[in-house]
Amino acid sequence: MPELPEVQTILNGLEKELKGKIIEGLDSYHNRTLLRDKELSASPFPAIIIDLERRGKFILIHLENENTIIIHLGMTGKLVLNRASTEISKYERACFIINKKDKLHFIDIRTFGKIIICPNKNVSQYLPELGVEPLSKDFNLSYLRKALKTRKAPIKNILMDQKIIAGLGNIYANEILYRAKINPETPASSLSSQQLSRLINTTKTVLNEAIEKNGTSISDYRRIDDKKGEFQNFLQIYQKTFCPKGHPVQKIKQGGRSTYFCPVCQK
Ligand SMILES: [Zn+2]
Repeated sequence: MPELPEVQTILNGLEKELKGKIIEGLDSYHNRTLLRDKELSASPFPAIIIDLERRGKFILIHLENENTIIIHLGMTGKLVLNRASTEISKYERACFIINKKDKLHFIDIRTFGKIIICPNKNVSQYLPELGVEPLSKDFNLSYLRKALKTRKAPIKNILMDQKIIAGLGNIYANEILYRAKINPETPASSLSSQQLSRLINTTKTVLNEAIEKNGTSISDYRRIDDKKGEFQNFLQIYQKTFCPKGHPVQKIKQGGRSTYFCPVCQK
């Protein structure tokens, strides 16, 4: 599932290629993918893209006509910009027509992805409760200390809780905890200030490195030019047999997800 660095990489690509361009129309090929707000005027297109932003794992495309397109990639969704192709791929669920001839294909094998079009004022209705952005200044020691004070759940589960920190998923939660030398089963409320500071700094470092490497392509995630990201080559613990220091990695289940950790490095 795409996490913050993957969604940010896609957003950076869209911003570079689409900002200021006109969406002429949107074709939909699957009844689960597209959702139109009831208050939407007859056709929101054509419309100029004036701004794009990311919130957690959501992409928001703001249009000149005061509507917003919200995109969530779900488990397997990807957006591919293709200027020449006319054929519809087997798993294509929707397609934006940009400036007459360009096409932004929404391809999604599992169909958990969503495209929502709504007036700006209704955007919050479609977003779940989202916590702090981990790359913002608001993700700091006082925020995290307060947020975790009464949380006895394992820190790994807490890192993936979108209501506390927006955008982290399984891969990055594993990587962050390894690099911060924190055992994933540690009850969140028992972490020291020193550990919390290390966790915050490591989170920012890992996410920034992953964005720089265009995200992690282990399964379906691709950039908008359909190329793979490169951060899968820099993972230190996720799906590894040995940690970088040569200790055997342990694999356990937490909240139904696979946790990889080193019992020696992460005490
Ligand atoms: Zn180790």
